[in-house]
Amino acid sequence: MSDAPEKPVENHVFEADVARLLHLMVHSVYSDKDVFLRELISNAADACEKLRYEAISAPELLGSDRSPRITLSLEPENRLVVADNGIGMSRDEMIEALGTIARSGTRAFMERIEAAKAGDGTQLIGQFGVGFYSAFMAASRVDVVSRRAGSEHAWRWSSDGQGSYTVEAVELTDAPERGTRITLQLMDDAKSYTSKWSVERIVKEQSGHVPVPIDLVELPS
Ligand code: ADP
Ligand code: MG
Repeated sequence: MSDAPEKPVENHVFEADVARLLHLMVHSVYSDKDVFLRELISNAADACEKLRYEAISAPELLGSDRSPRITLSLEPENRLVVADNGIGMSRDEMIEALGTIARSGTRAFMERIEAAKAGDGTQLIGQFGVGFYSAFMAASRVDVVSRRAGSEHAWRWSSDGQGSYTVEAVELTDAPERGTRITLQLMDDAKSYTSKWSVERIVKEQSGHVPVPIDLVELPS
């Protein structure tokens, strides 16, 4: 037993634009849900690239783990995990990156959706890179555990996409040594993403150009 005080779980409300975008994702009738995997893999690859860049002036950030890597794990109970050993996120970076819409591409998407009027807006999903939030097309809960390169702290962000999210500190033993691990609790109609064969096919089709090796592992149930 430890005497350490219980670490608080902070509750945050999504900024209004994110809540709108999430509502769209969660209720999306968009059939090509596969795009979420492309988006998460692209973020993982970006994180590896950011680390490579920062390590030019701070080589100690790489430690003994010098090869960038993305790992997709098919886990029991309909969980899909996308992990990378890239730059990772601090607590503040998580709140900024996963709680607001900073990127211009997503803003443009939202504007087009508003203009398109209700209903057919989801057809635009495929034309825009809708980013991280597209995970909620396939997942009823998304957990992001991240440890920024060089940091002695790790954080968990968690949301069911319904308007709010939580952030809490996690033990280093429960976090990747460096980088980010995203766990998707797949919805009933997204169970195809627990099939190694399907995931392999989607990765080949949509992420063939990604400059970081992608491993696919299947954990026995
Ligand atoms: P974009 O990739 O265009 O910036 P996203 O919605 O895909 O937009 O991602 C939002 C932000 O979340 C990223 O810019 C990045 O800061 C952060 N992020 C998402 N996934 C990761 C990851 N695997 N590692 C580090 N940061 C990430
Ligand atoms: Mg992205």
